Formats: sequence, structure tokens, C-alpha cells
Amino acid sequence: MTNTILSDKNELLTELGKSLVTGSLSDERLLAETEQQPPIQILPDANVLKIGGQSFIDRGRVAVFPLIEEIVENLGRHKMIIGTGGGTRARHAYSVGLDLDLPTGVLSVLGTFVSMQNARMIYYLLAKHGIPFIEPIQFPQLPLYLAERGAVIFFGMPPYTFWHENPKVGRIPPHRTDTGSYLVSEVFGTKSMIFVKDEQGLYTADPKKDRNAKFIPKISVAELKALDLQDVVVEHPVLDMMESAQNSRSIQIINGLEPGNLTRALNGEEVGTIIYAD
Ligand code: ADP
Ligand code: MG
Repeated sequence: MTNTILSDKNELLTELGKSLVTGSLSDERLLAETEQQPPIQILPDANVLKIGGQSFIDRGRVAVFPLIEEIVENLGRHKMIIGTGGGTRARHAYSVGLDLDLPTGVLSVLGTFVSMQNARMIYYLLAKHGIPFIEPIQFPQLPLYLAERGAVIFFGMPPYTFWHENPKVGRIPPHRTDTGSYLVSEVFGTKSMIFVKDEQGLYTADPKKDRNAKFIPKISVAELKALDLQDVVVEHPVLDMMESAQNSRSIQIINGLEPGNLTRALNGEEVGTIIYAD
């Protein structure tokens, strides 16, 4: 090959570059060298909020209107990238899809459109403040909107739709809106990842089903996994991803039904539950 990049002198390439163009991308030693430098934080001043579907938006105006007000109060003070959950309609779509023997990838497509419905509704409520709704293809404009208007809304599902991997058990797409929102915080290196739901945070069990469930204000991913709880407040893949996170090594779960909690979380207060990677 008469490729200058592969010429004997290799002067265009760093040492790592030489190893990468000639070595194997399965070589773990070589792969380890690629993380000598930490990645940049692309939007270190921004906060990612995920507004729950089932736990929040499905509750309608009693939940949503006060939160919208609180988001508006924080415009200009905190930059917010707002993702939305799917909720009960997504579960219904999954159940019909399953009844029709549709695969995980198709269920993921269905869930995506339900979280888009929720994103659209939040968007219309915030439209008069100039807050746009963006689809994945518009993410390159996200920094501009954020700089100009202070917030954007996106649907929380990761955009891989029918490319979704199958779960280990069953057929429900494992990477849903918690995961999609979390991935935005990781890749953009945002200041925070705040999950807005309907409980104070993480408990030792689902507080809706167990009256004796105890609140956990702060816990590491490793400690949480060791507890081997039957159910947790965020999607499991988020916890797995946190273990190899480069940026987003801490998440916060707050009760958005209580006015003031979002503002406190945006201000950096340890309201709700903090889950961190050691
Ligand atoms: P979202 O609406 O964001 O998708 P989910 O409904 O999927 O949120 O998850 C939040 C719910 O998880 C809470 O409303 C709570 O009832 C339930 N939950 C299950 N296990 C726990 C736990 N260990 N601690 C707190 N909440 C839990
Ligand atoms: Mg959920």
C-alpha cells in the first residue's frame, strides 16, 4: 500500500496512532492505552433531567404543571437538557406487540414513539418560553439552543430503535428512557443527571409495595449491587453503565412531586438519593 499514513516514517501519527492503525482492536493492552487521557466534558454546565413517564407525566396536571413552573423558574439559572419517559402507554404498546409476537427491536420502536408523545406534550407546555423539542438528528443544534434558550427537550429512549439488543430474559427492551437520558449525560459530560420521579429516591424495596422499605440517601453502585434488591428505582443498565462511566459517575433521584426538590438538586444539594460509582 502506498498510503502515507502507513509509510515507514509514520510522521503523521502519534505512538498510539501507529499502534492503532497497525494493531488489533481486540488487543486489550492497546485498548487500555486509548484511555490515557480523560474525555472532554462537552457541556459541563448543563444538567440532564429525566422526567418519569409512569411515575410522573402519567399523573397529568397535578404533577406536571408545578414541575413546568419550577423548570421555568430555573431558566437562566441552570441549563437543562430534559428527557422524557414512556410510562403506561409504552407498557400497553409492549403488551400488544408481545401479543402479536413482535421482536424486541420493534417493541423498542413502539416505546420510542410513546416517549416522543410525552416529550411533545412537555414541549408544548414550554413552547412560549422558546424551548425546543429535538429529535436525535437535531442533537448537533443542542448547544446552540441551550446557549440561547437555556433548555431543550428530547425523548428519553436511546435512538437505536430496531437495532436494540435483546435482553437476557424476556423481550422488553432493556435500554429505555432512564438509560437514554443517562447516556446523554455521560457523552456530554454534564454537571448532573437528575431523575425526576414520584418517590424520595431509592429505598430498600419499592415503597409502593413495601411499607417497611427504608430510604437510602446515598449509596455506591457496588454497595447497591451487593444488596441485590428485588427492584430498584432506575433501569439496571444505568447502574452497569455507571461502572465504566468516564464522566457521569453520579446520578440523583428526586421526588418531583414535592415543589423545590428540582431547584435544590439543580443547586447541587444532595436532595433525594445519590448513587455514585466508586
Ligand atoms: P419512570 O416513570 O421514570 O420510568 P419507573 O416507574 O420506571 O420510573 O420507576 C420509578 C418507580 O420505581 C417508583 O415509582 C417506585 O414505585 C419504583 N421502585 C421500585 N423499586 C424501588 C426502590 N427500591 N426504591 C424506590 N422506588 C422503587
Ligand atoms: Mg421506568
